[in-house]
This record gives sequence, structure tokens and C-alpha cells, in this order.
Amino acid sequence: MTTDKNSQISKFYKRSLKERREILKSWMNDPAELDQTLDQGLTTAQADPMIENVIGIYSLPFGIATNFLINGKDYLIPMVIEEPSVVAAASNAAKLIRAGGGFTTRSDEPIMIGQIQILDVPDINKAIERIKTAEKQLMAMVDAIAGSIVKRGGGARGIETRVIPNTLNGDLLIVHLLYDTRDAMGANAINTAVEHIAPEIETLTSGRVNLKILSNLSDRRKAYAEGIVPAGELAQEKENLTGVQVVDSIVEASVFAECDPYRATTHNKGIMNGIDAVVMATGNDWRAIEAGAHAYAARHGHYTSLTQWRKTENGDLQGRIELPMAIGTVGGATRVHPTAQLAMKILGIDAARELSEVIAAVGLAQNLAAIRALATTGIQHGHMRMHARQLAIAAGASPEMIGRVVEAMIKANNIRLEYAKTLVAQGEQSG
Ligand code: NDP
Repeated sequence: MTTDKNSQISKFYKRSLKERREILKSWMNDPAELDQTLDQGLTTAQADPMIENVIGIYSLPFGIATNFLINGKDYLIPMVIEEPSVVAAASNAAKLIRAGGGFTTRSDEPIMIGQIQILDVPDINKAIERIKTAEKQLMAMVDAIAGSIVKRGGGARGIETRVIPNTLNGDLLIVHLLYDTRDAMGANAINTAVEHIAPEIETLTSGRVNLKILSNLSDRRKAYAEGIVPAGELAQEKENLTGVQVVDSIVEASVFAECDPYRATTHNKGIMNGIDAVVMATGNDWRAIEAGAHAYAARHGHYTSLTQWRKTENGDLQGRIELPMAIGTVGGATRVHPTAQLAMKILGIDAARELSEVIAAVGLAQNLAAIRALATTGIQHGHMRMHARQLAIAAGASPEMIGRVVEAMIKANNIRLEYAKTLVAQGEQSG
């Protein structure tokens, strides 16, 4: 699929905030209220009923990552995050993968798992047999109370049983309800469904039901992304590194994360920098995505990386990511938060599966940017400039003064708050 829109926008980062908004408006099909939404965000009146004991609004920067070409379609990526460098890194890495033809993504059907814990079962084998026999009836019970999800083609997809050895108070019988939640993250539909069938499960098993709740290890609902970077794109002349050398260093870095949980944790944190930022921007539950991602990373009994990078037969770099992605385009805050709705308009996405694939692509890009920097110049080089900016702001530098203070800190190789304060004081005296 191709579109006439091109997300490769020259020097987007050099434009003023106002110019960036104008570019966005020309990109969007419906840019009405863009300025108002971005300036106002969530109002206190909108926030008050969202959680308890509200006293106000906590704001975060909202940026746009460029260059994303996914399955032949261009996207501008909304990202909400407080950490500097993340948006720039995602944009740069997306440009590299774009040079190799862009991201290729796919996703599973949006099937979530609802769990029912059953204890004190007199005969577990017999209970499992009875649940199996009643599977269709249980699924019909679930679909009978579902709302629009069934009309939209979703609903119950199966009932599975697991036995978990437990010496404390007897083996646990666990029922999994597999439920297609369509474009919803689905927590409410799943939780309602498992509570609804719990009494019938007690009758079938002659046991006692305790917990009834969705699992955030949504490993039936994964998103996958792949991309190739031509080796030539990775050459770094300043550092005297050929593209082939960088490919090899990135593959070595990948293997380190695949083998070592200490490294994998940081590797995956970098991936989640990008993923969480889009999940936040679209009003989705980032704790659910985080929990699912890390549990999936430990699925083989040892914690490992969510991505793998390898050299292709042509000597280019190929990366892939695979992780659970319980994301919604309806429900939760996605339909309540005005800025989240704007983010969805910028993406131009209605379907949850498409959003899940875009998010996986962002995670892969974020990872490429981090390990490329780590395997070549190190990340401090770029980071310290951003850090210096934050210190300059914290030291009270006016917007016109920030650039000068940053350059002075870098030149003196003294990137500390005290020094930033001294420079600001000097600047105020001279200016
Ligand atoms: P909602 O219940 O707000 O919205 C989902 C509902 O929207 C569906 O059940 C369906 O209701 C309706 N709907 C309308 N259009 C569609 C469509 N195209 N596809 C699917 N459903 C549609 O949200 P969720 O159930 O998704 O829950 C998400 C929230 O739950 C998040 O905010 C999360 O924080 C929270 N949560 C998370 C938990 C966890 O992760 N462990 C636990 C509990 C809550 P209908 O069929 O009635 O029309």
C-alpha cells in the first residue's frame, strides 16, 4: 500500500514549534482544533472524573518522530516522553530502515486471556474433562453478555485449562478464556466475561473459584516488526568505521543482550522508551504493555532481549522484534483524552492491530538507534548535549540564552548544574 504522504520531512527538528504544527496540519485529514488541543490538553474538568482525588493536570512534552515507512505507508509518530534524545533517535533509526525499504510488520488476532483460579477441586482430571465438554456452552455464555464486540466479529475463541503444582494448598486448576477484543485493549470485557462464567466453572469442577481477571501476558496478541539497514548507511566516516564494521558491532551488541539478563534489561528499557511514548500519546495503558513485554522477554525461563539483529547474506543489517501488544483504539483514555485523540488523528489509525504494528516498529527503531550509538561512539556524546540543555533550563537560562550556555558547558567539558548557574549569572550580567 502506498500513500501520497511522505513522513521524511527535511530538517523537521530545525523548524520552530509553530512551523512543525503547520506541517502537521497539512499532513492531517482533519487538523481542526490542533492548536487548541495542543495548547490546552486535558482540562481539569475532564481529568476530575478520570481518577480519584484529582487536584490538577501533570503535563509532558508531545513530540513527533519522522521518517517511518511501515508496510509501504508513511506515518508521523506521536510520542509523549520526558526523556531527551528519544524522539530524535527514533526518527534517525527510522530513516536508516527506510533506506532498506522500510518496516515490515504483522500482528496476531487481538486475542486476550482471562484467567479463573479454581481451588479445592476434588478430581482435577474429571474437572478438566467436564470443562472441555462444556467449552461451547461457556463460550456462548460469554458471547451472550458481550456488547458490540461480538457484532464486530470478536468474542470468545476458546477455553483452555492448566494445572499448576502447588504444595501450599493443593494443585491449582486454572481456566483460560481466550477472547477476541477487536479494537479494545479489552480489560473490561474480559473481566466481565470471566466473572460471568465463574459460577458455572464452580459447578462444573465442584471446586471453589478465587481470582477472575485478565492476564497481562497477552502472548496470543503479539505484534512483529522487521527491517533491513543497508550496511553502507551505517558507515561513520568521522570515527573511521565502515558500514560492515558497524553491522558486526551491532550484531555483537544484540548477542550480548540475547545472552545476558543484565544487558537485556537495559536493551529492553531502550525499546520501551519508544513503545511507551507512543502508548502514552495514544492514551493506552503503558503499565499493561510494560508488564506484558517483560514477562514475554522471560518466557523461556531466562530474561532475554525483545529484538535480534543479524547480518544478511548481502552483509546488511537485519533486525526483528516480537512482543505482546494489548493496545486499543477505543476505550480507556483513548476516547476521553483530547490529546490522545489528536495523536490517533496524526497516526490516521482506527484499527488496534495497525496501531500495535506501528508501535512494534517504533520499538525496533528505538533499539537500533541505541545499540548503533553504543556500538560506535557511545551514547554519552549525544546525551550530554541534551543533558546540558536540561541543566541550562534548570539553571534558569532564558530561551535565548540556552544555546550559548550549552555550548559553553560542552566547550569547558563541565556539564554540571553549578557551572550552568555560573554561566547563566554571567550571561545575565553581560546581557
Ligand atoms: P473500555 O471498556 O472503556 O472500552 C472497550 C469497549 O468499547 C468494548 O468492550 C466495547 O464495548 C466498546 N467498543 C466500541 N467499539 C469497539 C471496537 N471497534 N472494538 C472493540 N470494542 C469496541 O476499555 P477496555 O475494556 O479496552 O479497557 C481498557 C482499560 O482497562 C485501560 O484503561 C486499562 O487501564 C484498564 N484496566 C486494565 C487492567 C489490566 O491491565 N490488568 C485491569 C482493569 C482495567 P461494548 O461491547 O459494550 O460495546
